[in-house]
Amino acid sequence: ASTTETLEFQAETRQLLQLVIHSIYSNKDIFLRELISNASDALDKLRLESLTHPDLDADTSDLHITLETDSEARTLTVRDNGIGMTRDDVVDLIGTIAKSGTAGLLAKIKEAKENKDTDADAASLIGQFGVGFYSAFMVADKVTLHTRRAGTDQGTVWESDGEGTYTIADADDLPVGTTVTLHLKAEDSEDGLGDYLAAWKIRQIVKQYSDFIRWPIRMATQATSTGTGTGTGTEDDADGETAGTLETLNSMKALWARPRAEVSETEYHEFYRQISHDWQDPAQTIHMRAEGTFEYEALLFLPAHAPFDLFSRDTKRGVQLYVKRVFIMDDCDALMPNYLRFVKGVVDAHDLSLNVSREILQHDRQITAVRRRLVKKVLAAIKDLQATNTDSYLAVWEQFGRVIKEGLIEDRDNTDTLLELVSAASTHDPEKTTTLRQYLSRMKDGQNTIYYLTGENRAMVENSPHMEAFTAKGYEVLILTDPVDEVWTDQVPTFDGHRFQSIAKGQVDLDETDENSDEAKTDKAQQEQDFAALLAWLQTALDEHVKQVRLSTRLTTSPACLVGDAHDLTPTLEKMYRAMGQ
Ligand code: ADP
Ligand code: MG
Repeated sequence: ASTTETLEFQAETRQLLQLVIHSIYSNKDIFLRELISNASDALDKLRLESLTHPDLDADTSDLHITLETDSEARTLTVRDNGIGMTRDDVVDLIGTIAKSGTAGLLAKIKEAKENKDTDADAASLIGQFGVGFYSAFMVADKVTLHTRRAGTDQGTVWESDGEGTYTIADADDLPVGTTVTLHLKAEDSEDGLGDYLAAWKIRQIVKQYSDFIRWPIRMATQATSTGTGTGTGTEDDADGETAGTLETLNSMKALWARPRAEVSETEYHEFYRQISHDWQDPAQTIHMRAEGTFEYEALLFLPAHAPFDLFSRDTKRGVQLYVKRVFIMDDCDALMPNYLRFVKGVVDAHDLSLNVSREILQHDRQITAVRRRLVKKVLAAIKDLQATNTDSYLAVWEQFGRVIKEGLIEDRDNTDTLLELVSAASTHDPEKTTTLRQYLSRMKDGQNTIYYLTGENRAMVENSPHMEAFTAKGYEVLILTDPVDEVWTDQVPTFDGHRFQSIAKGQVDLDETDENSDEAKTDKAQQEQDFAALLAWLQTALDEHVKQVRLSTRLTTSPACLVGDAHDLTPTLEKMYRAMGQ
């Protein structure tokens, strides 16, 4: 005999329910992700408990999740044979929001609303907490839950329309586990787009959000469903006897969750192709697991070639965020800086709310720490390629160097590492690029400065009159032709204690020793006297166009050249700014 009780939701729960139903999410599909994630947790718990309590006498041989639709009754059912709940559990877990801070959260949301902030703010605030189970009320006007806790005999049935009250009663003959039945709102079926009774729709949502859930998610088609939606176990679809009517929707293959030693290179590459839509193998694979206060797994790839839209303003970053194998978002910019936007992969964080928003991630200290660590890993992987597989490193640099160099402007924490990665053309060898380290190793005695010249292309830089004295005297000059070079060379002062110096800017003291010798000084004084009249005349004639006319040791064959002030924009940058209308 079961006693039916009608209970009221906690005040806070009721408010939260109203928010969930009426304003929070533009994307209703996520209700299924929430219910499947709860079912998956319940299966995890049952397996764990059966290991730690062998006397529990629970059947864990075929743990799974089943989805059923009944178009006549307009119900969608999510069933698991996991841990289940006792009647008290249901009151505690479903009837109240046990999470601390809910009241404070609601106050904040109210405040945001009073300040006429939009729903988006409410959504981002609420993202800090799970609304989980209640998201069912976004698509259902009535939710029924049947459950029996493993190791107990008494089942419980809970039902609510999400308004203010719920009923709870005993139920007999329930199997162990939980069944959640959603009585779908009529409004979602009209255009067929939000039709949660359609098999294709369910398939699509599961594929998108729950593909890597480790337990099978099976869909039972209508024919064998009795349509009662009560999950009393009479249908017995659990043993797979009705194989023809059960379809497993998820791949379950979360490669990142497996130990590295057990994953083959082919598997990594296949996974990469799947998430990147790239047909080539990646240049490098990074697979890591962090344990401790903030657990996560990361599986990242350096692609071997750049996508066509690498430089378009809204190119997407390649890192997806999962929480315990549940897909949360694509293009998670909080996890990868802009200059590593070409890195593809997955980060699975264990302790985040499924409803976490981009805004919250941006300000989350732990996420910031994860990002810092991932950046270090990626840079180390490129460094590693540089040391072990030069060809592959050069290929990566050729494809992504221009982007990685943006890091010299954006990411001051890693300047030193980034500089080690830089490869550049140089006057040393017309065929090959050089690293800065290699440049240093070839510097002339007494040379302290890294010389470079920026320009639009190699030929223009090589033929620049600025080059003459340097080539004549055997100084190596880096030839920097990416637009970003103009910017970072201005902002990064040194590499390993050696100053960067543009040979087109300011005074360049070539052969310091020579020039400062007494002989050179008298020479120079003599020359200045000889040319004083000419210089004065040039200065007057060109006054409108130049700041100063001076004698130079820069040139060997050209009679004159234009030199920028040390802090002037370079011609290429000037052109860039002009093109941008500044
Ligand atoms: P969360 O999953 O973040 O804890 P939910 O609102 O999704 O929040 O669920 C609340 C609680 O209800 C869960 O923590 C769990 O204890 C219980 N619960 C929900 N669904 C199930 C289920 N299918 N089986 C067992 N317990 C469940
Ligand atoms: Mg949940």
